[in-house]
Amino acid sequence: MKREHIAQEVRDVCATLEEAGHEAWVVGGCVRDLLMGTRPKDWDLATSAAPEMVQRLFRRTVPTGLKHGTVTVLARSSRRRDEPDGPLAVEVTTFRGEGSYSDGRRPDSVAFVKTIQEDLARRDFTMNAVAFRPAQQRLVDPFGGQEDLARRRIRAVGAAIERFREDGLRPVRAVRFAATLEFEVEPSTLSAIGETLDVARRVSAERLRDELLKLLAARRPSIALRLMQQTGLLDVLLPELVEGVGLTQNRSHAHDVFEHSLACVDAAPNEPVVRLGALLHDVAKPRCAAPKEGSPSEHTFYRHDAVGAELSDRILRRLRLSNQERERVVGLVGHHMFWYEPAWTDATVRRFLRRVGPDNVADLFALRAADIVARGRGEDPEVELAELRRRIDGIVAASQALSVGDLAINGADVMRALGCRPGPMVGQVLQALLERVLEEPELNERERLLALVPTTAEQLPSRGAPPRGAGGPPP
Ligand code: ATP
Ligand code: MG
Repeated sequence: MKREHIAQEVRDVCATLEEAGHEAWVVGGCVRDLLMGTRPKDWDLATSAAPEMVQRLFRRTVPTGLKHGTVTVLARSSRRRDEPDGPLAVEVTTFRGEGSYSDGRRPDSVAFVKTIQEDLARRDFTMNAVAFRPAQQRLVDPFGGQEDLARRRIRAVGAAIERFREDGLRPVRAVRFAATLEFEVEPSTLSAIGETLDVARRVSAERLRDELLKLLAARRPSIALRLMQQTGLLDVLLPELVEGVGLTQNRSHAHDVFEHSLACVDAAPNEPVVRLGALLHDVAKPRCAAPKEGSPSEHTFYRHDAVGAELSDRILRRLRLSNQERERVVGLVGHHMFWYEPAWTDATVRRFLRRVGPDNVADLFALRAADIVARGRGEDPEVELAELRRRIDGIVAASQALSVGDLAINGADVMRALGCRPGPMVGQVLQALLERVLEEPELNERERLLALVPTTAEQLPSRGAPPRGAGGPPP
C-alpha cells in the first residue's frame, strides 16, 4: 500500500500528529477498502496521542466519543484551500483495548493501551485489523487480514465465541460484511454466531438498526438474511420473518414466503425504504395463511397487506426507525396488493393515487416490480404495470387535484360562503368537494366549487344523521 492512496486531508492529520511526537495510523474499514482497491467512505485513524492532545492539536474538532477516545477532526487539505466539498471528517481514536460490556450493549469503559498491535487486537475481524502508518510507509497485519481479504474470508480476531460474547453486534456485522463484500464467513466464526445469540439479544436496537440498514444496501441482501436465518440471528432481529420459512404459497409462486421475501429484497432498487418494504411486504402471510379450498397444499393470505402494515409498524418502532421512514414503509406494505384492470375509470386511478400518496407511487411501483420478479416465474413486471404507470403519469402531468390542498378554494372560502365559523364541518365540505373533483376534475375551478358549497354542506352525512344526544345541527 502507498501513502498516495490516502486522502490528502488524512495524510495532513497524520503529519500533524507525527510532528508532535505521536504515532498516527490509518486503520479499520478504510485500510480494508484500500487493500481491496475500492474508495473508502470514511477515514479512521488510531493514534498514541490522548484525546485531549488531539483536541489541542487541531483547530476544528468534535468530541464524538471522548469517553471511548474518539475525536472527529474536521480537516482541510493543505493543497486545496478552496474546499469545494467542505472539510473532511476524520475520526481519530486513541489506541485502546477491549472495553468491558457488562450489559452486552455498549462498552462501559475503555482502557487505553500503548501500541497499535494491542489496539488491533480488540477489533472484530482480521480484515478490519490492519493498520498503515503513512510516516513510515509501514503496514502492520498481526492477524493475517490481507490473506483473509485475498481469500475473501471473514474471520474473527482471536476466538470467535469470546469476541462475540464481548459484543453481540459482531455476529450481525459478520453477516453484514458477508453481503456487502460478498465474502464467506469462515466456519468457526460462523458457528460462533449460533452459540452467542443470548448476547446479540442484548444489543441496543439502534446499533442493530444501523447494521440492518447497511446490509440492506448490499447488492444482494439475501446473503446476509439467509445466513441470519441459518444461524438463528434472524430470531433475534426479525423473528416475524422466520415464520415464513417453509410456508408454501400457490401456483403463481416458485418460492416459499421467506425465500420470496429475500428474492424481492434483492430485486428491489437499492434504497432503504423500498428495500425495507420489500423485506416486510409479506410479513403477515404466515399469520393470514389458510389452505386453499380444493387444493389444500396451496394457501390464500386474506388481508395480509393490512395485517402486514400493522405488524411492520410494530417491527419498525421496535427497531427505532425514523418516523418518516417507518410511515413510508408501512404505507408500501399496506398498499402493495393493488390489482389494476383496464376497466378502472380515471376516477378510480385518481382515488388510488390519492390513497397511496403521489409521492409514494414510484416506490410502490418499484416494490411491486420486485414482487413480480420474486415470484420466480420469469414474468416481466412491465406487462402488469406499464398501463397504470402511464395513466398515473397523465394525471400527474395534468396536475389534477388529489388532495384538499389542491382544490381551487380553501377553508376560508367555505366559511365565507356558508357564513359559518371554523369547525369540523369546513373540512368535511372540502373533503366532499374533493370526492366530486376526483370524479370530475373539470369542477376544480373557483366559481364552480363556490357554487357547490351550499348543497354540499346540506348533504353532509353527519347532518342527516346527527349522533344520538347531540341535539341535531346548530341553528
Ligand atoms: P464500514 O464500511 O461500514 O464503515 P467499517 O469496518 O469501517 O465498515 P466501522 O463501524 O466504521 O466499520 O468501524 C471502523 C473499525 O472499527 C472497524 O473496521 C473495526 O476495526 C472497528 N470496529 C467497529 N465496530 C466494532 C465492533 N463492534 N467490535 C470490534 N471492532 C469494531
Ligand atoms: Mg468505517
